[in-house]
Order: sequence, then structure tokens, then C-alpha cells
Amino acid sequence: MHANHLFDSGNYPIYTGPAAWDALNAFFGSCNYSKIFILVDENTNEYCLSLVVRKAKVLAGATVLKIESGEQNKSIEVCTKLWRLLMNHGADRRSLLVNIGGGVISDLGGFVAATFMRGIQFINIPTTLLAQVDASIGSKVGVDMDGIKNQIGLFSDPLAVFVITEFLHTLPQRHLRSGYAEMIKHALIADPEYWKVITKQGFDNDLGWEYLIEQSMQIKQQVVKFDPFERNLRKVLNFGHTIGHGLESYSLLHDEKPMLHGEAIAIGMICEAFISNKMCGLPEDELKEIVAYVNASFGYRELNGDLALEVLEIIKHDKKSVDGHCRLTLLKNIGKAVIDQECTPDVIVDSMHFYLNSSLVLAI
Ligand code: NAD
Repeated sequence: MHANHLFDSGNYPIYTGPAAWDALNAFFGSCNYSKIFILVDENTNEYCLSLVVRKAKVLAGATVLKIESGEQNKSIEVCTKLWRLLMNHGADRRSLLVNIGGGVISDLGGFVAATFMRGIQFINIPTTLLAQVDASIGSKVGVDMDGIKNQIGLFSDPLAVFVITEFLHTLPQRHLRSGYAEMIKHALIADPEYWKVITKQGFDNDLGWEYLIEQSMQIKQQVVKFDPFERNLRKVLNFGHTIGHGLESYSLLHDEKPMLHGEAIAIGMICEAFISNKMCGLPEDELKEIVAYVNASFGYRELNGDLALEVLEIIKHDKKSVDGHCRLTLLKNIGKAVIDQECTPDVIVDSMHFYLNSSLVLAI
């Protein structure tokens, strides 16, 4: 049986569907590494590693590097520990790193691999919904720094990505929902028909994940293939992420139980839909539809009413800002994004105040 080779992303294959296991074995059958390392966190060590090793026996002899889970570990300090472990365990330029985990593992592992000895090869086996539809593809790797998301990093292609939905069976609901935010974003920026599909089904119904995952991967990959280094079109993927990353960074600094990436992006999408309505003519009824659906999917989250100015300061450090001016990706309509929209600090603050009152927007 041939693996479902969903699309050639340009530089590397992405395998999906049940036959992705065959593709993984074929991959190891066709290459010769001096040493194989596997990167996991404590959860993917417990829930995913044994399944991978059972299916791809060649990995039984690999050296497993384990980190603690959580965004706070996507840091240069953890990279240093991993580079040292690689050195101490005899990694050389013909070694391979296998990233088994969510977006933290693929971002961090990809960065460690891309920089160790000027770069060793790596593959991604994403185990969260968010990593499957987004983080593991597109070749952005990196770490956070001083509370700012993804401040240090580069573009580096994995050799291949293997998307296997079986892993989602053990993923906690909160993390599944977090990944759903990126799927909502894919629909909003690129595909009104896909938006209709997901809004009709809703997160809590029995979603056909395989179909939705493939739709989302297609959207992300088409964008990335056209503009791998984010010179223009790829910026559409940043919808919800300027304010979302600001909120996520704020929450990591202040909250005992910080927001997950997707939870912050969900709020960011509401804020940026509000700005889209003010600046780009996103129709009022579409704004209401977005707010109602995102709040229904994620639940309205109480925020500290004073956070807006601090989040604004964080946003000014965002990579997407130029000379301290914030440039956002906004929506003209559901399914049609526009990039590089320069926004004043006032409208960004207003958008967060809009979110604070958005629990009053009812489904239409
Ligand atoms: P994550 O990697 O922290 O994983 C979420 C949690 O799920 C962790 O506790 C993990 O241990 C656990 N887990 C993973 N797989 C599991 C499984 N199958 N069963 C049980 N538990 C499992 O978070 P995430 O949501 O996957 O990724 C978020 C990160 O991705 C953020 O750092 C974000 O910036 C990054 N990201 C990167 C890109 C990119 O293009 N590089 C795109 C979007 C997001």
C-alpha cells in the first residue's frame, strides 16, 4: 500500500492517513543515519513513544531525549541542555532528530536540529491537533525569549512530516480545542466554504477530524509553498496572531494557569475581526458571526480589564511590527484576508475592550 502522500510541500513530503505508518518505515528503510535521537516531553513519552516504536521498530535503538512539557520550556536554556545531550551522546552531522510531540516539540526540536553543528536533519511526528494542522508544517522553528513568543528562530525544513490522527485519542480536550483555533483561522483567511463546514458541525459534535485536518493542512501548505519566507502571502496566516501572541505572552508572565496558544489566538481573532470591521469593511453580520462562533467554541474568558496597555507594549516587540508600528493581517470578508494593515495603538486597545464586552454577542 502506498502512503497517502497528501502533497509535496515543495521541499519535503507530508504523509497522512493510516498509510503514514508505512511511509515512516519506508523512510527509515531508505536512509542511513549514524545515530537517531528522539525528542519527547513527559506526555508524548507516556502516550505516543511506545506506539511509534512499535510501528517503526528501527527506532527501538534510538536515544530518547525528554523535556518537560509546556510553553515555558520553549527556551534557549532548554536548547542548551539538548545541544549538550546531543554532544555527550555522540551526535554528529549524520545524526537524525525525530520530534514526537506538539508544537513546542516541533518548534524547539527543529531549532535544536537546525543549529546543532550547523544543522542536522529532523523529521516531525506531530501528536497534537495544533501541530498536525499548523506547527509541524511550514518550517518555522524557534524559541521564546524574555516573555516574547518565537523571538529567536529560523526557517528550516524537516525532511518529512508524518501526520497520524491516532495520537489525538489521548490528547486532553483543552489541547484539542486549542488546535481547533488554527483551523478556524484557516477557514477565515482562505475558504468561506470550509468556514460553513466547521460552523455547521461545531467543535463539540463528532467531527470528522481526518477530513478537517486535511482541509487545514492544504490551506496552510498552499500558502507556505507560495511564500515560504513570509515576504507577502504567508502573512495571511498571522490573522489573530498579533494580538493573540501579545495575550499569550502576557498570560505566560502573569497567570498561574496561562492561556494555551490556541486560546489566545481565539481571542486575538475576535479582536482582529473587530479591527477588520473598523478598517477593512468586514461586514457587521460577519463580525457578529465570527464573535459568536469563536466564543461558543472557546467559552468567553474573563480578562483583567487593565491588560490592554501592557499587551500593546508586548505587541510592539512582535516580529510583525515595523519601527514600533503594528501591522496586522485583517479580513475583508470571511475567507478573504488582507496583509500589512497598519493599525494605531488606539484601535488595538479598543479591540481588546471590544473582546471584554463580547460575551454579549449572541449567535445569529
Ligand atoms: P504543546 O506542544 O505544548 O502540546 C500540548 C500538550 O499536549 C503538552 O502538554 C503535551 O505534552 C501534550 N501532548 C502532546 N501530544 C499528546 C498526545 N498525543 N496525548 C496526550 N498528550 C499530548 O502545544 P501545542 O498546542 O501542540 O503547540 C503550541 C506551540 O506551537 C506554541 O509554542 C506555538 O507558538 C507553536 N506554533 C508554531 C507554529 C509554527 O508554524 N512553527 C504554528 C502554530 C503554533
